[in-house]
Parts: sequence; structure tokens; C-alpha cells
Amino acid sequence: MRILIAGAGIAGLTAALSLHAAGLDDIRLVDAAPEIRPLGAGINLLPNAVRELAALGLDEAVGASAVSTTELVYFSRHGEVIWREPRGRAAGHRWPQLSVHRGKLQMVLLAAVEERLGGQRVRADARVTDFRLLPTGRVQVNLAHRTGGTTTTEADALIGADGIRSGVRRVLYPGEGPPVWQRQVVWRGIAKIPPFADNRSMFIGGDRTWKVVAYPIAPRPDAAGLVDTNWAVARTFGPDEVVDRAEWDRVVDPAKLLAALDGWVFGPLDVASLVTAAKAPFEQAMVDRDPLPRWTFGPVTLIGDAAHAMCPMGSNGTTQAIVDARALAAAVAGHPEVDTAFTAYERERLDRMTLLQNCNRALGPEVVVAMADRASSVTRPGPSASALDRELAEVSRRYAELGGFDVAMANTDSSYSVRRRPGPGRPTPQETGS
Ligand SMILES: Cc1cc2nc3c(=O)[nH]c(=O)nc-3n(C[C@H](O)[C@H](O)[C@H](O)COP(=O)(O)OP(=O)(O)OC[C@H]3O[C@@H](n4cnc5c(N)ncnc54)[C@H](O)[C@@H]3O)c2cc1C
Repeated sequence: MRILIAGAGIAGLTAALSLHAAGLDDIRLVDAAPEIRPLGAGINLLPNAVRELAALGLDEAVGASAVSTTELVYFSRHGEVIWREPRGRAAGHRWPQLSVHRGKLQMVLLAAVEERLGGQRVRADARVTDFRLLPTGRVQVNLAHRTGGTTTTEADALIGADGIRSGVRRVLYPGEGPPVWQRQVVWRGIAKIPPFADNRSMFIGGDRTWKVVAYPIAPRPDAAGLVDTNWAVARTFGPDEVVDRAEWDRVVDPAKLLAALDGWVFGPLDVASLVTAAKAPFEQAMVDRDPLPRWTFGPVTLIGDAAHAMCPMGSNGTTQAIVDARALAAAVAGHPEVDTAFTAYERERLDRMTLLQNCNRALGPEVVVAMADRASSVTRPGPSASALDRELAEVSRRYAELGGFDVAMANTDSSYSVRRRPGPGRPTPQETGS
């Protein structure tokens, strides 16, 4: 059975490795990028995603260039600690939480695909523009290339892992339009600064309008004693504010942010110094996608951002893309027909992802910053400190459960390590490995 994966990002490459580990070997990937290069900035992998990478034998390779995060601290804009919680191993997880450069993660996955599946499996400069089901039951896929030319290819199944602007999704939902703007602008950058705290902490702080996120993505300082530190600053616009979005999607001078962030200090971290140390911060609209009623249409399905792109709250975008890929491969291994496998995958994942998308639109776990800001601004007696603490703890607990990374759920072995049996029958659970 030939499986074509649109997109060689995190979801697509993990799907290829997981399908291969499940016993399938006729797998091809196409990607719109002219070449697969280590692009992006920092991302976080929660323990439930690291468990799946461990099942593929890749946790150590990814971990080698990542930070094993030990703590998450929320601050008010005035620098008071609102909430702090241990993360990853420090919180009792079997697998760590990893903060890593997206491009480094992608290159580890790509190298594993080339080594395990063989070279020539990933074709760059091939954008999926259209597809149709043939009377034979196969899928014919149209690809566009930078030369302006087009080609077609055929497969028994098509997996749309082609991100928030997915071409596969556009064919399935032609009237949907562009991603949905969430009335926020976000600036992102990487700054080389002296390590803050224990060089394993993630700091998030702000108020109801401005939010700052900062965490290191290099496990140790360079020769100059500096550490690559990922940051993002988001500004929320009120419903009546008029916003000119025409100038976004560009590199900006970080000085642009200084008026808003001047004097912000989170414990050992001076926010203004962090932001101004970044080389080329990028300014863009914060967008996501509406939840979909279904991802699977016969032998075609969606995974990762193509299925459920969500606002970047709570470190879940990449984490859930990895879990999707593993769940999909396990479903394919467990069903003789690809259509029923894709439907089973959707049944397992769609409802939870819809809840997560909606939760992230309501700020996800980072709502604690807004809650604390609101509590500090009420003039009549607000909630007592201990009542607020209980509320914040409950937000954190519910979100971990929703994302599948609370200790009880994430400490069990991966249930997605299965191998396809020749012919009909149930898959055999197996030890980890490729
Ligand atoms: C260049 C880049 C940089 C990013 N940087 C960050 C970051 O710094 N921080 C962060 O939180 N998230 C970042 N993201 C998004 C993040 O990778 C995803 O939210 C998450 O990892 C889910 O991964 P995904 O594989 O579903 O989507 P993606 O990682 O977006 O991968 C989608 C892949 O599909 C390819 N593609 C797109 N359209 C087509 C098409 N029509 N046909 C074939 N291929 C197509 C893209 O080239 C890409 O390789 C970035 C994504 C990209 C593509």
C-alpha cells in the first residue's frame, strides 16, 4: 500500500517514521518548500510527545540539543509571581518536557526518515494543489513546482500534514478561507543572553493586553557564556480597536516593543534586554483554524496543524502533531482497510483536539495571567490569595488532563507501538524501536 504524506514538517515526518515502525514501507513525502531547512524558533514538547519520540528511539537524539524544562513560572506585569509549577521530570514525569529549536527537531526526524526508510523518500518543491479519488479507489494528487510546472502522482492513501495553510484541507473544505485572526499580534525572536534562573525555566508574564513568554532552547551556554533564549511577545486588541494588519509578516526593529515593556522584570530576567538582544524578531498575526467536524474522507485524512491548528498557548501545537502521527500509524496497523483506519484515528483524536482548540482560544492555561490581573484590579474585596491559588491550580490540572500530559496519563507506556500483521487481524503490541 502506497501512502503519500503532504508536508515534511513535524507531523509528516513523525507519521512516516511511525508508519514504518508499524510495518509499512511504501511511504512517500512531498513538501512545498524548495528544500527542507531547519526553520523556525523555539517550541516545546510535553512529556506525552517525548514518550512517543522515545517509542521511535529518538528522544535522546532530540534531547541532545534541547533543554529539559524543570519549571513554569507565571508573573504579573509588575514582576510578582502569580503561579509556579514543576514541569517534566521535576513534576514526576517519566519523560522530560523539552524546549528545542523547531528546525533541530525537524532535522533529527528527517535524518531518521532517510536512514530508516531510505533516501529519496522526501520530495521538496512539490506543493499539493489538488487531488481526486479515482474509480480504482486510489488518490490522484496534483503537485506544483517552482518552475511553474505541475505533475501528478498516485497513492492508495493521502495524509495531509501540510500545516495551517494546508492544500489538502483546502480541497476538502473549499469554502473555508484563510486562517482565523485571533485579534492578537505576536513578535518572536531568539536572543543570546546570559542564562537566567537555572537555564531550564519557562517564564510567562503580563496582563490582559500584553504577554511575554521566554525560555532557553540551548542546554548550555556558548563560549561567550550566552544561551539562545526564545521569546514571544503578544498584544491583544480590544473588540473596538481599529487595527491595520497590512504591515505585518515582516522583520521589525525590537525597539518598537520597548515603550510597552520598559521596566518589566521577571525575577532574574530583564524583559527589555531580552527583547532588544534578538537579531531579527518577526511580527505576525496570531491565527488559528476553526475546529472541523471531520478530518477523514475515505483514504484521505488530516493530521497536525492541517487538522487542528491552534493558538500557541500551553505548548501543544507540536506535541499534539506528534501524538496524531503516532495514533494514525497505530490505527493503520490495526485495520486492514485504510478508510476504516483513518476513521478510527479521527474517532480517537478529533473530540479532544476540538476541546483543546477552543480552550486555547480562551487563552488555555495562560488565562492565569489574565485572572491574576483582573483580581489585582478589583476595588471591592477580590478572591483571597488562597482561593485564587486554588483556582489557578485547577486551571493547570484541567489543561494537563485535556492535553493528555498529566502525570497519570503520560507516565504509562505508549499505546501506539503496534506492528501490522500480514493479512487481517489485530496488531501485536511490541517493544519500542523502529
Ligand atoms: C517554516 C516553519 C517555521 C515554524 N516555526 C515555528 C516556531 O518558531 N514556533 C512554533 O510554535 N511553531 C512554528 N511552526 C509551526 C509548528 O511547526 C507547528 O505548529 C507544529 O509543529 C505542527 O506541525 P505540522 O507538521 O502540523 O505543521 P508544520 O510544521 O507547519 O509543517 C507543515 C509542512 O507542510 C509543508 N507544506 C505546506 N503547504 C504544503 C502543500 N500544499 N503541499 C505540500 N507541503 C506543504 C510546509 O512546507 C511544512 O514543511 C513553524 C512552521 C513552519 C512550516
